[in-house]
Order: sequence, then structure tokens, then C-alpha cells
Amino acid sequence: MAEFHSLMDYATRQTKLAAALSPAGVEALLVTHLPNIRYLCGFSGTAGVLLVTGGGRRSKCIFYTDGRYTQQAGEEVKGAKLVITKKAAFTEACAALSRTRQKVLGFEADHLSYAAHRQLTQTLRGRVRLKAVAGCVEDMRLCKDQEEIGQIRASALVAASLFQAALGAIRPGVSENLVAGEMELQARRAGADKMSFDTIVSAGRRSALPHGRASAQPVPGNGFIILDWGVILAGYCSDMTRTVHVGPVSAARRRMYEAVRAAQLASIESVRPGVTAGEVDRVGRDLLKKAGYGAYFTHSTGHGVGLEVHEAPRLAKDQSLKLAPGMVVTIEPGIYIPDEGGVRIEDMVLVTESGREVLTPTTKDLITL
Ligand code: ZN
Ligand code: ZN
Repeated sequence: MAEFHSLMDYATRQTKLAAALSPAGVEALLVTHLPNIRYLCGFSGTAGVLLVTGGGRRSKCIFYTDGRYTQQAGEEVKGAKLVITKKAAFTEACAALSRTRQKVLGFEADHLSYAAHRQLTQTLRGRVRLKAVAGCVEDMRLCKDQEEIGQIRASALVAASLFQAALGAIRPGVSENLVAGEMELQARRAGADKMSFDTIVSAGRRSALPHGRASAQPVPGNGFIILDWGVILAGYCSDMTRTVHVGPVSAARRRMYEAVRAAQLASIESVRPGVTAGEVDRVGRDLLKKAGYGAYFTHSTGHGVGLEVHEAPRLAKDQSLKLAPGMVVTIEPGIYIPDEGGVRIEDMVLVTESGREVLTPTTKDLITL
């Protein structure tokens, strides 16, 4: 994995963040959210904190982690001074901060726990003022750079390749868990680190649950199956959904499927730089309303994907954020009718200079098994 990391432009990211500190009203930022740490310096382990100090050309990064990560941090961390701690990394970072001359230290408002905030306050004992900073690194992560787009593209292709494994496993009587297992084995074979979330396989009446994780329930002889899955490849997530049907399809169910497909295609077509996230949501939602399914589309249209499987932006009602080149979002409308079943179709879409590019090439024709 080290080769992948060294391709990432950590220096630019660190410089950009350091420059954003003063406008945010802080001299330094204590980064504790692991995906943000990975984004800024490459560390992929599960314990560490990164201190980024502003101040123009004198800006600097210090990364604290404990002895379990000595080798990994040495290989992965770029552009930051490495401090291997004896106690918990956070505890030693707090102690070091209490000895600095900084006056205002930012912490990640969305990620620092109450207990950690208390520990920080108690260690600093008023010598450094604490200020909540929200979304500073997340804003930088909204638009992916070329290296990230390359990794996300590869992750989406691995995810897409699992659909065949699912189709090969689905037949009446096999458990949803077995279908998920075949997909997950294929993911490992294709080089994925792991799945980006628990694979969703919801068959028959369970397909009316928007988030029905695979269970021991057998696939029934007739009904929809929603498959929603993704992998993590070199740190970058993918996320996609296809719905197939077991047994002969009634006209009503075919109509349901085609309504979701039309809504999904319309929302994808609306993706371009400058369009608001709310408008992309509205386009598909209006179509489903017109088709009479408005009450059954019970969630938002999509979300950003990157180092995290759910990240900004949110494609939902009234969201005013404007899409921009480099953003990667999912488009995933669905219909869920209790006791009948559900349909969802989800693709990953890259916002380009001129419009959009769908990263998940899998067919959306209704497949019956
Ligand atoms: Zn999904
Ligand atoms: Zn999704």
C-alpha cells in the first residue's frame, strides 16, 4: 500500500490546511478524525493525532502515535514530524500542547469526544484557548484530486465486478448471507482491503427495508432482491446498488423498477458543475412523485464517497451546496412498499468540467433469475 500513498500530494494538502487556519481563527488544529489524518499525511492505522500549525512558511505538522505503529507510521507518514509516544498518542499530544506558545488551538468539533475535550481542557489549564472548528478538512476533501479520482475509479470497478458473483449465487432457497459471502470473497480475490460497509442483500418482502443487511433468510421463489455493496481499495471506498428479480415479474413490479431507473437516470443527467445538491435530489424525486411513488421514496438521493463511504456533500432536499468538478457522489433513489418489496439503483458519479461521468458501469436493465 505504501506505493499508493506516496503518489498522494500530502504537501499541497498540508499547506492548504495551514493557510486555512488563520481565517478559521486558530493558530493550530488538532486533527483527531482518522480519515482526515490519512488525507493529510497518509497514516492508515487506527491510533494517532496530527497537529497542524499555521504561520506561513513556518507552518508544520507533528504526528503522534504509539509504539504499535512505529514501523507503519515510518513507512506511511509524509510531511510530518513523527513522535512515537509511550502513553496514548492523544495524552502525549495534550501534554506537548500545554508546553507550546500557541494561544488558540482548534479542535475538530464534529469528531472530538466529550471525554477527550475534557482531558484537553484539564491538561492545558487555560494556557491555550480552545476553539471548535467544523469541516475544515472535510471541505478540502470535497473535491478529489487526480490521484484520488484514480483510486476511487479503481475501487468502483472492483465493486462492479462483484455483481457477477452475486448473480451466480442467487437462487431460491439460498440465504442472503451466502449471496453476500460470495460477493465478499470475490472482493478479496480482486484485491480489496475489505467491504466499505456491511453488504446489503434484502430479498422478497425484506427488500422493502432500505437498509436490510444480509440475513439468514432464504431467497424466496418470487420477489425483488436489493444488493447494495462496496469495497475499500487502497483506502478509497466504493458504493453501488442493483436490484434484481427472482421468478416472473408482474407488470406492477416492472413499472416500479422502471420508475426508479427513470428517476435515477434523470438525477444523473442533472449532475454538472454549478447545480445544487438539492436540485439533483429534486429532479429524481419529482419523477417518482409524478409516477405515484412519492410517498415510497423515503431517503435522500445520495452522498459523497471518498476515504469514507458516506461523506459530504449530501444530495438531499434544499441542500444549497453547488457541485464542482472532482466531487464524487452517489445517485441512489429507491421505492419501498411495505409487504411488497423495494427497488433501489445506485451509481457513483464523478462531477467533471463539462458534466459528469458514471464510475460504475454495471447494467441497469432489470435482470430476472
Ligand atoms: Zn449503497
Ligand atoms: Zn450510498
